[in-house]
Amino acid sequence: MQDDPSDFEPSRSAGLDRLAEFVNRAGRSYAAGRNTDDGPGRATAVSKLSPYLRYRLVTERDVVAAVLERHGFEPAEKFVQEVLWRTYWKGWLEMRPTVWARFVEERDRQRQTFPNKRALTAAESGSTGIEGFDDWARELLATGYLHNHARMWFASIWIFTLRLPWTLGADFFLRHLVDADAASNTLSWRWVAGLQTVGKTYLATADNIARYTNGRFSPKGLATEAFAITEPPIPRPQPLPRPMRSASSDQSLLLVTSDDLNPETVARTDMPIKAAVVASSPDGLWGDRARVFVAKAAAETASRVAVSFDCEANVLVDLDAETLAIAARSAGAHQIVTAYAPVGPVADALARLTPSLAGQGITLVQVRRDWDDLFWPHATKGFFKFREQIPELLREQGMR
Ligand SMILES: Cc1cc2nc3c(=O)[nH]c(=O)nc-3n(C[C@H](O)[C@H](O)[C@H](O)COP(=O)(O)OP(=O)(O)OC[C@H]3O[C@@H](n4cnc5c(N)ncnc54)[C@H](O)[C@@H]3O)c2cc1C
Repeated sequence: MQDDPSDFEPSRSAGLDRLAEFVNRAGRSYAAGRNTDDGPGRATAVSKLSPYLRYRLVTERDVVAAVLERHGFEPAEKFVQEVLWRTYWKGWLEMRPTVWARFVEERDRQRQTFPNKRALTAAESGSTGIEGFDDWARELLATGYLHNHARMWFASIWIFTLRLPWTLGADFFLRHLVDADAASNTLSWRWVAGLQTVGKTYLATADNIARYTNGRFSPKGLATEAFAITEPPIPRPQPLPRPMRSASSDQSLLLVTSDDLNPETVARTDMPIKAAVVASSPDGLWGDRARVFVAKAAAETASRVAVSFDCEANVLVDLDAETLAIAARSAGAHQIVTAYAPVGPVADALARLTPSLAGQGITLVQVRRDWDDLFWPHATKGFFKFREQIPELLREQGMR
């Protein structure tokens, strides 16, 4: 069993070690124990693989393949479904990018205008006097990680007991989680708030908290009703952008971003990659913990890439068109190949710099993973419809 979650060593090999250590526990013991949170530094049934999956140091495919090989599908179904929640949220947001844009706009508005700064500071520093809630706030600040159930309880108390804006809670998580993610975080907060599945809110209760913290916490005075939060209707899902493949066999510069630190399984190692740059830029990294994790992981990824593609690989601090154009030119490349960036700040940065690169005769090709091509189109409705497809889609991949 693992203990201290604050110790996420930022490398693919550390992620694979964690997976190897966890894989035996991914079957029925995960299903039975995953809801219990005994607190930081204590044995747990969950994997704590989230930072590795978030930055794709270890991919969903790596994790699901290892778990299925060890257990087969039925005993590991619950764990596989949890991994696919991540894939589902990514696909769902990809087809509804305005939900991210709206969140950013509303968060920025609330940051400027929310009047009760004192209540906000008390919530963020863990000094509201609410048992459990204060402990999770401090745990998040100290470790950059919270158990899934603690995230749910925390978000629910933030919204319905403290009556703070959900967007500021989501912002607090983004600034402190090591695994902070545009899709998983925003959509989970929306789910708790009753926006994601309209009318279905998540209300934390003292009994449930006491039961799943093994009696560590039993907070008093929690809201007993969840009020309705409304918003204008969400636009219908738009078609996914067509997957791009690197059509040209031109000499290329490989660009690695924090959204996918596993380029070896995106670009083929026999592609004419002349050089690589790994961007450890702040785009999509909201907090210090995530930034430190990615900066170290970027250096480790550059070393891996240099060996895998037999080329020079450097870490870039800024993801801007001029720096990329210089790197491409000095590699003699007119094409930059990168893993597809899903909705979020890295995608926004790539969208900004693409025209400028094109103006200099350089094409940016975003290659989407087979995993995303396979699952994302099914994220049109709720998770339960999506979940029904999982066994068949895994079978298509020869994974079960
Ligand atoms: C309010 C709230 C905010 C959240 N914010 C984030 C976030 O920013 N980044 C993030 O990666 N996850 C987020 N989650 C989802 C989930 O809490 C974490 O992925 C999980 O707790 C990570 O711990 P683990 O690796 O031990 O999970 P395990 O239980 O071991 O699950 C394995 C993997 O499956 C995925 N996963 C599991 N549960 C979920 C879930 N409910 N939603 C999406 N993916 C899941 C994760 O990649 C996780 O690493 C949030 C959940 C809530 C309720």
